This record gives sequence, structure tokens and C-alpha cells, in this order.
Amino acid sequence: MKRTTSAVVAAGLGLAAAPFLAAQSPIETYHVQGNVYLLAGGASNVAVQVGPDGVLVVDTGGEETADAVLAAIRTLSDGPIRWMVNTHAHRDHTGGNTTVSQAGVTLNGNPAAIIAHEEVPTRMVEEDRPITEWPLNTFFEDRRDFYFNGEAIFLYHHPRGHTDGDIVVYFRGSDVLAAGDLFITTTYPVIDAGYDGGVTGFIDGLNNMLDIAVPAWLQDGGTYVIPGHGRIGDEADVIEYRDMIVIVRDRILDMIAKGMSLDDVRAARPTLDYDPRYDAGDGPGSADAFIEAVYRDLAEGGDQ
Ligand SMILES: [Zn+2]
Repeated sequence: MKRTTSAVVAAGLGLAAAPFLAAQSPIETYHVQGNVYLLAGGASNVAVQVGPDGVLVVDTGGEETADAVLAAIRTLSDGPIRWMVNTHAHRDHTGGNTTVSQAGVTLNGNPAAIIAHEEVPTRMVEEDRPITEWPLNTFFEDRRDFYFNGEAIFLYHHPRGHTDGDIVVYFRGSDVLAAGDLFITTTYPVIDAGYDGGVTGFIDGLNNMLDIAVPAWLQDGGTYVIPGHGRIGDEADVIEYRDMIVIVRDRILDMIAKGMSLDDVRAARPTLDYDPRYDAGDGPGSADAFIEAVYRDLAEGGDQ
């Protein structure tokens, strides 16, 4: 996880460095493990796998950092960008699709192919997004696998989690998971009800990652997990996040069983002990939004 830019050092120089900073990339590159790198600093994390076959990119961040992401990829490899994977449809993960895809080339001479679950282009069509952003290489099964840059890559679909089209990407040789927004280290889970997300699917996704991840005992290594937002984690971080969600879900289930309304549940503050760590304050990732999403899923539309 070695930092390869000096953004933090430069930021420490303060106002005098502003003209220099203006020209500096917002994207910082970290080596995660094996063939896999993390590009951080955009609207979402971007994972890049490089090797003799070329480049594979998981998510592309927001449109505003697309050129900076592309430049960062080019510092890792000047090989062809062959494949892209979208973990889900949200714009903060897919806004750079057009730029990155058009900079790449498949063996047939087309822009780099974007792989995703079939719910992803469906959402993009609904939102009138340009066709150049759509993943056209889609699947509808629980799992897909393929081989690239000397290692097996597994894509696991988790319906009704963060959205309806979430996939987790596992690089088996490098032993790195790219979790999309089914694991974030910054805030409470974002359960997007408008995209058919739900708490049960969210927990299923984390349990799937825990089935895959293996910790290293008394040594460096083990499985690393790249979250959709935040810092690189390992199995222990995913366990902590999963346990927090399960505990809050169980508290809210108990309250629902007692006949409490959403307002009653909010007033009882079922997330109180976790709020200092995870509450985003307001909007997505806030305690309020998390409680409401869990409540509505379990009390009104859930599959419990
Ligand atoms: Zn998202």
C-alpha cells in the first residue's frame, strides 16, 4: 500500500503551494497486492489490474476525474486497456466510463469492453445516460469468471444489497477483493431503496466476501479488500462492518416486533454506539438514512 504521489506532502505546504497544487492530479496510486492497484481521490475508489495481457479497470470514479484516472493508469502500464468492470450503476463509480473505455481497445479493435450485471445498463437507460457509458458485456447469473493477466477473476452478483446490480470482484492470484459499495470504510452502508437495495442482500454480500477472504497469521499479506469508498481493509475490517450491520438490523427487528413506528425507532437511536464512527451526518451514509432504509426494508418490503 505504498503511496506513489506526494499529494499529502504538497498539501502540507499550505497556500504558497496553491499554483503547484492546481496542476497536480487529484488521484493517488497505491499498490494493493500482486497485480492490483488502488486509484484513490476521485468520487469513488478505482481498482486497476495490470499485467502482460494489458489492463483491467474496476469502476471509473466520477466524470470530473476521468482524465486524471486515465493518466494514473498510464503510470502503471502502457499496455492496452482491454476490460472494465462496473460494480454497480451509480455515477460516482461509472462517470469515467466513456473516457476510460474509449482510451482502451479490445482484441477486435473496439473500445474497452465494460462488464456488469444486466441491471446496470437497465438503470443507465432509465436515466438517459449516454450509450458510451453503458456496460454492453452483461450477465444475469450469480457468478461469472474469466482469466486475465495470469489469474482467475470472479464476479459475484449480490441482488438487493446496495443496489440491485452489485457485484464483488475477486482477483484470485493477487488475493484482492474489489467490493464496490457493499463495503465502505467511511460511513454507514448506503442502502439505495430507489435502486431496490436492502439490508439482507447487503449482509449476504459481506458474508460472501468473508467466505473468500483469509487473514494472514503473524505475517504480512492475507486477502485485501478495496472498499467503494475509504481505505484498504482486510478480513477483520469486513467482519467489523458486517457485525455492526447485523447488530443494528437485529435491534430494529426487535423494535418492529414491539410495534414501534419509524419515528419511534429513530427516537430510540438503535445506532447510537456506532454513530461516532460511521454517521455521515445527513444524506446517504447518515444514521437517519441507514435506520430508515433498514426499517422500511424489514417492516414494509423486506424478505425477512
Ligand atoms: Zn453506490
